[in-house]
Amino acid sequence: MQTPGTLHVVATPIGNLGDLGARALDTLRTVDAICAEDTRHTRQLLAHFGVEKPLVALHQHNEEAQVAQLVARLQGGQALALVSDAGTPLVSDPGFRLVRAAREAGIRVSPVPGACAAVAALSVAGIASDRFAFEGFLPAKTGARRERLAALAGEPRTLIFYEASHRIEEMLADLADRFGPRHAVVARELTKLFETVLDGDLPSLHARVAADANQRKGEFVVIVEGAGEDADASLAEGRRVYAVLCAHMKPSQAAKVAAEITGAPRKALYGGDAG
Ligand code: SAM
Repeated sequence: MQTPGTLHVVATPIGNLGDLGARALDTLRTVDAICAEDTRHTRQLLAHFGVEKPLVALHQHNEEAQVAQLVARLQGGQALALVSDAGTPLVSDPGFRLVRAAREAGIRVSPVPGACAAVAALSVAGIASDRFAFEGFLPAKTGARRERLAALAGEPRTLIFYEASHRIEEMLADLADRFGPRHAVVARELTKLFETVLDGDLPSLHARVAADANQRKGEFVVIVEGAGEDADASLAEGRRVYAVLCAHMKPSQAAKVAAEITGAPRKALYGGDAG
């Protein structure tokens, strides 16, 4: 029986090609094939470094279907690399199913660590980093997004979000609305020419981004400090009172009364917009 190959999970740059490490390059040069989220994008990256390799498309729409044949290749002794368009695979990117299937098949899965936008932003945010929760992208639909934020309002850990340029202003408005004047950081275009890291309270950050179209261009990580212990306790109490009141009145009214009694933010209790 052939010795199984290895699946190398290789991080690639999030903007600055100088961030591709020597071991990552070495791995990409020596594997039999590279599984890539967007083969055209990865081909350009490889061309920059003079690497030519067979590429296999592995994205959210075909991952399920590709997994079996990729695991078979690994079992047959091939070494494969997994990359995404930018940063660390599996972090808001495809690859989880392949990694799980490979591990279940007893194949060695080895990381070649490198850039990750969330960690890069956290490293320059100056917000408590001993405990944090990575939330990735918030739901695109307004109602679902506000519901998610309501559920996160009492979270004591630092929160890390990804956001796209066309939604950044709306997202900051919702964050300011739901979390109030909490300290936050908007990290834009990290490692690239127009890298900007803004900090301040959420309402003022929203105002700065709303006032300047340049601050809405590119790729974003938003980091928000966690709820303080007081906020946490009043939110828990607010939720308890809200649940009791809901049995007797409309949810919007129950949220209003529960907020008045406990000091918890009304919008964190009830996701809708009704007053
Ligand atoms: N796997 C990647 C990682 O390790 O960070 C993330 C992939 S996710 C599909 C892409 C999102 O990451 C972007 O929409 C943006 O929110 C964030 N991002 C990626 N590159 C960035 C950069 N240079 N500056 C700020 N945010 C970035």
